Amino acid sequence: MNEQDSKRRIKLTETEDGNVLFNVPFPKDLKDLKGMAPIVIKQPYHIDYIHSYGQDSPFFAGLANGKLLGTRCGPCRYTYGTPRLHCMVCGEPCAWVELPREGAVHTFTVCHFGGEEFLGETPFILILVEWPGVDTLFLSRLVGVEPEAASLAWIGMKVCAQFKRLSKFKPTDVYFVPG
Ligand SMILES: [Zn+2]
Repeated sequence: MNEQDSKRRIKLTETEDGNVLFNVPFPKDLKDLKGMAPIVIKQPYHIDYIHSYGQDSPFFAGLANGKLLGTRCGPCRYTYGTPRLHCMVCGEPCAWVELPREGAVHTFTVCHFGGEEFLGETPFILILVEWPGVDTLFLSRLVGVEPEAASLAWIGMKVCAQFKRLSKFKPTDVYFVPG
């Protein structure tokens, strides 16, 4: 065995996971590669993404415990239906407050298209919820009414928060039903 042959016997270990292709056509004349159709492969893609909720963490802890939390500014009493940790009016820190489960529809939209995660659920209804004494609105889903029955009579409708039993620590852990 000459030196070249013995070098060729050194092999990196190969595995059979991932894409393994056999018998890929290849022209004798490299000029023919110009006409080659693109190779298209499908492969699973997974990534574990570590994301900190930071100062918003109490909001998600609330959802996991069946509580919808907003915040209120100490000095100016501005109250946030979608929590902010610092007041956008006066800049002071806000405190956490529990919002009532019962609110009202401020406005709504029926979504016939959506992001990939929600595409299979279309049409669905998004509402902005309002509460007396709360200065900003909260975006959520309204379930329990037919999207086809959408009507301006929904404006002002009383709605009640419900929470998923299995919290995913997402804003969609809470949704609203008529009531
Ligand atoms: Zn303030």
